[in-house]
Amino acid sequence: MDIIRSVSEMQQRATSARVAGKIISFVPTMGFLHQGHLSLLEAGRKRGDLLVLSIFVNPTQFGQGEDFEDYPRDLQQDSQLAQEAGVDIIFIPEAAEMYPTGYATYIDVEGITDNLCGSSRPGHFRGVCTVVSKLFNIVQPQVAIFGNKDFQQLAVIKRMTLDMNIQVEVLGLPIFRESDGLAMSSRNVYLTPEQRSQALVLSQSLARAKQLVSAGKTDCAAIISQLTNDINKKPDARIDYVQICHQKTLADQDDVDVDSVLLLAVYIGKTRLIDNGFLVIKHD
Ligand code: AMP
Repeated sequence: MDIIRSVSEMQQRATSARVAGKIISFVPTMGFLHQGHLSLLEAGRKRGDLLVLSIFVNPTQFGQGEDFEDYPRDLQQDSQLAQEAGVDIIFIPEAAEMYPTGYATYIDVEGITDNLCGSSRPGHFRGVCTVVSKLFNIVQPQVAIFGNKDFQQLAVIKRMTLDMNIQVEVLGLPIFRESDGLAMSSRNVYLTPEQRSQALVLSQSLARAKQLVSAGKTDCAAIISQLTNDINKKPDARIDYVQICHQKTLADQDDVDVDSVLLLAVYIGKTRLIDNGFLVIKHD
């Protein structure tokens, strides 16, 4: 496994792999790897000949007062996990390598970024789209693998690749959870044991909403109000949003249907956690 820090070296490796007829699969992350990331790498290993993992805590997607400085980092552990997962190259650029002096270009995806994280974290998706498009140009993958955990991010990246004619297949994989239901996240490490137990309210809200829907309740406002009451009972919880949206447009819905996704962002103490899930069980 190689560790590459320079953009030009990564581009050269990608170009030679392409010339040799190899399929490059790519998993972009901010590091501090957990099993959710490892599930993406496992899929990447199966889908490509050259598996590239990027680790980059991207400054342009963090707002003022967010946790850019404090974001957990452990390169030694990440390298070991990546090696075990069969990664061929870890691409770890410095911020100055990605955004050198004079850098001036940003990508804005409209519409689908208006709601949810787009409205509560202004500029977030501009930073995400900018860095992901740069990473696509540097790593040149045929396949890029993301998690459904960041549901809106995945939808935005799919929109961007389509709109910008980027030749990459964007795959979304299921949310990997702890055995008690908590969605895995690098940020879970911030939680105290007491907050860790309160954080279960996110996955419990998903389960509760599914229960309400299967019992015949389809009024979104009523479901959201019930969940809001439950979440507000947790002393350290502060709701950023609890919304039911159409899976494609991410616009709010009035009534639950087969396209409904419940999306939650809740602060537990200072830690902002997100989760989501479909509300209607689909039978193929
Ligand atoms: P991050 O390092 O948090 O930016 O995440 C990198 C990628 O891993 C993104 O595509 C995330 O959606 C995905 N990811 C994060 N947590 C999980 C999880 N629990 N299950 C599956 N994928 C995840």
